[in-house]
Amino acid sequence: MTTNLLNFDLEGLAAFCESLGEKRFRAMQLFRWIHQRGASDFSQMTDLAKSLREKLPALAHIQGLPVVSRHDSADGTIKWLFDVGAGDVVEAVFIPETDRGTLCISSQAGCAVGCRFCSTGHQGFSRNLTTAEILAQLWFAEHELRRQFGKDERVISNVVMMGMGEPLQNYAQLLPALKVMLDDHAYGMSRRRVTVSTSGVVPMIDRLAVDCPVALAVSLHAPSDELRDQLVPLNRKYPIAELLEACLRYQAHAPRDFITFEYCMLDGVNDQPEHAHELVKLMKQQALSGLSCKFNLIPFNPFPASGLKRSAMPQVLQFAKILMAAGIVTTIRKTRGDDIDAACGQLAGDVQDRTGARERMASQRQGMLGGIKVVIDKRIAS
Ligand code: SAH
Ligand code: SF4
Repeated sequence: MTTNLLNFDLEGLAAFCESLGEKRFRAMQLFRWIHQRGASDFSQMTDLAKSLREKLPALAHIQGLPVVSRHDSADGTIKWLFDVGAGDVVEAVFIPETDRGTLCISSQAGCAVGCRFCSTGHQGFSRNLTTAEILAQLWFAEHELRRQFGKDERVISNVVMMGMGEPLQNYAQLLPALKVMLDDHAYGMSRRRVTVSTSGVVPMIDRLAVDCPVALAVSLHAPSDELRDQLVPLNRKYPIAELLEACLRYQAHAPRDFITFEYCMLDGVNDQPEHAHELVKLMKQQALSGLSCKFNLIPFNPFPASGLKRSAMPQVLQFAKILMAAGIVTTIRKTRGDDIDAACGQLAGDVQDRTGARERMASQRQGMLGGIKVVIDKRIAS
C-alpha cells in the first residue's frame, strides 16, 4: 500500500520528500500540482525531476473518493455523496453566492455526540475520516467546478466544517487539512474564510486556538445547562459556562473575530420568548467579559426519528427580535437547495445494496444539508 499524498500538509509532504532523499522544495512543487492544479498523475508534473517522477508511482499515489451521486439544485447548490468504504458515505455541498463560493464538508462518517435534532447523531458513529478523506472533498469539488465553469482561478472561497461529524473529535486528522486549506501553495484561503463548527469540545477549542485559529462556530442551541444537556449530550461533560470561557480564550488568539453561536429553532423546545430572554442574560454576562459574538438562528430541518418540529417563522422572528433589541447581532439562516432534497429521497433506491442503507440515512441528512445547512445568512433588518 503506497502513501496517499492527500494526507499531508506541506510540512508532512516535505518530511515525506526528505525520507526519499529529495530536497524540501520538491514538496512545494508537488503540493502545488496536487492542490492548485488538481493533478493526480505524477507524469503530468513536468517541472519535477524526471528521476523523481519515475520513482513516485511505486511509493505514493494521489487518490480522491469515489463519487456515489451528485445532485444539482435549481438555485445552484450542488451536493455530492462520497463513498468512504464499508457502506459509509459522506457528503459535501457547494453553495454559490454572488461574492463567494462556500463548500460544506464532513469530518467523520456518522457522529458520536448524538444531538437529538441531528440525523447524523441518530445514525451513530462509524469512524473518523482521514486527512486525505477530508481534503478529498475540497480537492475534488474545486477542480470539478473549475472544469465545469471553465475557470482557471479559485471557485471555492470558503470552507465550513458543517457536514457530517464533530470536527473537534477528529482533531489529529482535521488539523493538517485546515493547514492545507490556508496554505498559499494550496488553496490559500484566509483564516476567516475557514469555519470549524463544534458542539463544544472544550479542550480541543483551546488546541485549535493555538494551532490554527480559524473562524469558530459554536452550536449552542439552548440558554441553560438543563435544556442543553437534553439536546447536546456533550454538554454534560462541558457545560455552558466552561464552553463560553473557552470561547473567550479562543478570541484572545483570533482578535477582532466574532464567534458565531448556532441555535437550531425547535418548536416549543428552545424557541420561546423566555428562552430568548435567558439567552440575552447569558450573553450580557459574556459581553461584560469581552466576548464578541453573533447568533445564527437555524430553522430545524425535521426528520421522523427526531420527534421534533421546526419553529414557525413568526416564532423565529420574535426570538430574533428579542436578541436584537438587546444589541446581539442575529441572522436567520436562509434555506438553499430545497428541491434537491426531494430528488435525493427519490434516488435513495437507486444505489447499490451495500450502500443502500447508508445512502438513505445520508439522504435524510442531506435533507438537512440541502434545506438548512446549505444556507446563506440573511441579516434581518432591525
Ligand atoms: N458537529 C458540528 C458540525 C456539524 S453540524 C456541530 O454540531 O457544530 C453543523 C450544524 O448543523 C450545527 O450547528 C448543528 O447543530 C446543525 N444541525 C444539525 N442537525 C440539524 C437539523 N436537523 N436541522 C438544523 N440544523 C441542524
Ligand atoms: Fe454530531 Fe454536530 Fe450532529 Fe451533534 S449536530 S450529532 S455534534 S454532527
